[in-house]
Amino acid sequence: MIKLKNVSKYYYKDGVIAAGFTKVNLELNLGEFVVITGESGSGKSTLLNVISGLDTYEDGEMYINGKETSHYTEEDYLLYRRKYVSNIFQNFNLVNSYTVYENIELAMLMNGKTHVKKDVLAIIDKIGLKKYRHTVVSKLSGGQKQRVAIGRALANDTPIIVADEPTGSLDSKSSSAILKLLHDISAEKLVIVVTHNKKEIEQYATRLIKMNDGKILENRLITPINLDNKIKENKIKDITLKNKIRLSIRNAFNIPIKFILMLAIYLLITITLIINYSSIKMAEYEELNYAYNNYFTNTDNLRIIIKKSDDRQILSDDFQKIEQISHIASITKNDFLTDINLNIHNDNIYLDGLIAKEKIVQVDKGRLPTNDNEIVILGHPDNWYLSELESDILAQNFRNDEMNIDNIKVVGIVYTYDNLYNVRFVLANNLEEIFLNYAKTIYNDTKIKLDKTTLYTDFSIIPTSLINKGEVVIGDSLRGYCPNLNCINNIIQINTSNIYEERESKLTIKNILTKENAQQLLNIEYGNYYNPIFINTSDYNELLGNDIYQSSIYVDEIKNLDEVNKNLEDLGYETLVMRKSLFNEAETVKQITNILKLIISIILIITLFFISYFIMKIIYKARNSYYTTIRTLGGTKKNCVSILMGELLFLASFTYLLFVIFTSLVNKDIISYPYLKNIIHYINIADYLLVYLILLLLSILMAYRYGRKIFQKSIIKTYGERL
Ligand code: ADP
Ligand code: MG
Repeated sequence: MIKLKNVSKYYYKDGVIAAGFTKVNLELNLGEFVVITGESGSGKSTLLNVISGLDTYEDGEMYINGKETSHYTEEDYLLYRRKYVSNIFQNFNLVNSYTVYENIELAMLMNGKTHVKKDVLAIIDKIGLKKYRHTVVSKLSGGQKQRVAIGRALANDTPIIVADEPTGSLDSKSSSAILKLLHDISAEKLVIVVTHNKKEIEQYATRLIKMNDGKILENRLITPINLDNKIKENKIKDITLKNKIRLSIRNAFNIPIKFILMLAIYLLITITLIINYSSIKMAEYEELNYAYNNYFTNTDNLRIIIKKSDDRQILSDDFQKIEQISHIASITKNDFLTDINLNIHNDNIYLDGLIAKEKIVQVDKGRLPTNDNEIVILGHPDNWYLSELESDILAQNFRNDEMNIDNIKVVGIVYTYDNLYNVRFVLANNLEEIFLNYAKTIYNDTKIKLDKTTLYTDFSIIPTSLINKGEVVIGDSLRGYCPNLNCINNIIQINTSNIYEERESKLTIKNILTKENAQQLLNIEYGNYYNPIFINTSDYNELLGNDIYQSSIYVDEIKNLDEVNKNLEDLGYETLVMRKSLFNEAETVKQITNILKLIISIILIITLFFISYFIMKIIYKARNSYYTTIRTLGGTKKNCVSILMGELLFLASFTYLLFVIFTSLVNKDIISYPYLKNIIHYINIADYLLVYLILLLLSILMAYRYGRKIFQKSIIKTYGERL
């Protein structure tokens, strides 16, 4: 079945040609147990390597099953080996980190077999290692290792088994046991053994070949074999995807040191990417604290302002739909107050700030409000007023001039960390109502005509339920505008307009408010209002009503801003994302520093990439023998690359999963790690995915590079390097 005709093998080294063997003629058949002996350097190994397709030959012809092989390419040889030959080496070439079972299973899996458990156990039984089937090979004795190697050759189920000095590194007792085992399995196979134990093996040999100086000195047939020489080829199938994945996962955890190192590398990349990325985002965010908008005072980063594209009212139906959107922290339906700067002062202290929307359930200093005139201040603990004047603020009364209110009390302070300079106010409901009315007149251009003459003076319109609908009471300071100072039953026309609409009301003056009748008529202090016009609440609502044209949505976290905005736009609203509508004084400087930051980050990431790549390369160089073993078992380059890629992808995913679990524990305060918590605040799902993608990319790149590397050298050379 295998026939060599004048075959020669030469080695070229440094321009010198050395002969491995020359002009060898040989014919070996199925059923034979061939023993090759000869001195060291006589060409035995070279001959075996050529026969087993691990090495090429230069001269002559080698036939397998009558087929000539001199034109064989690397791929043909791979096929040839898979079909016909299993090797047993002097130094075993097993996967040391695998158990006995896994080593034998590996050979079967590489041949595309599935459900191999029974067969593997049968082979382990045959080689007498039942007790050791779950022992890692590195813990076995030399004799036991060689048994595993024989078992693996059996698992390969090829017609030819080639063993190069299989007992070379064994003591004499295990040597004879191994030779006997080889003989036991040799029925109906062609077994070729190179050995020095001539005496012990002679009892099994059916043919004895003696080599000397690259030539066959003697070729003696001892027992003629009468076997049908038709070879049963090993059925070739590629390893299944499922088994590739199994091997990948096994390899990922297989060697603890490698596993930990890889985990560390992937973790390093992940953390560097995340920290780098989020610190850029954080810097951007912090810069915006000092930016401004020309139209809106409240430049909250989480704020999105919405209106309908056709300028129609936003109704409760609309709000119901908006509330369905996730990641919304709060909705200020009527956001007139949001941009109003409120100021309160007394003779010593002047405070101004926005009206906060927070619901206060707990204060850091003072107490919660219990009265309508009591308010709470929100601000940074290092804010000068709150740190230096804290006790004064909590003790004294304050005034607001616009609304003419003079008994405002600050009863509590809540510390927030958003901005050092600004404070904000939380008002009780009725105080908020008063300010809301004020805000409405600011946002609405309000004009008054008394007896067809427009009033060019300041006035305040105050809603009250103590006046009938359609009627009005004016302050006596306005009396001068009436014809003949007689206002009663005159018509007063009020026009309001804002960017969304115009409204008009005609009301009849029923009374004049004077010092004397103020208490009795409207139950108020005379003089609290400048040019007051009191109208019925429902008239008021029709003019400066509760209709909502513009609302503010607050997102829960900055990273969800875009998503929420998109959802709002999908619902048909025109939106203005506050964060994106801000102006910063030093716009160009900012852009330049941003570009610089980006360049530095890119350099950092590339450097990191290469460092990791080289560490990984070193780690995987130590794995050369594993992939060479896969090759000797018939694994193609594609197989090797995909098994390695699977392993790396799995390790990357595993590391990433650990990272994500850790960050979510930090996020939920189960693990306290404020720095990380602060950082991940700025990262959204897309960013997380991007980092994961980079890890996967590195893994894929690494697997391809490595695959190319190991296949540059022949099996014999890679094994040789390791020895
Ligand atoms: P054996 O196995 O009988 O000890 P080998 O087949 O290993 O002998 O070697 C046969 C001859 O080929 C020797 O002269 C050896 O120096 C040479 N040889 C073997 N392998 C190589 C190689 N990779 N490069 C150059 N010469 C080699
Ligand atoms: Mg040798």
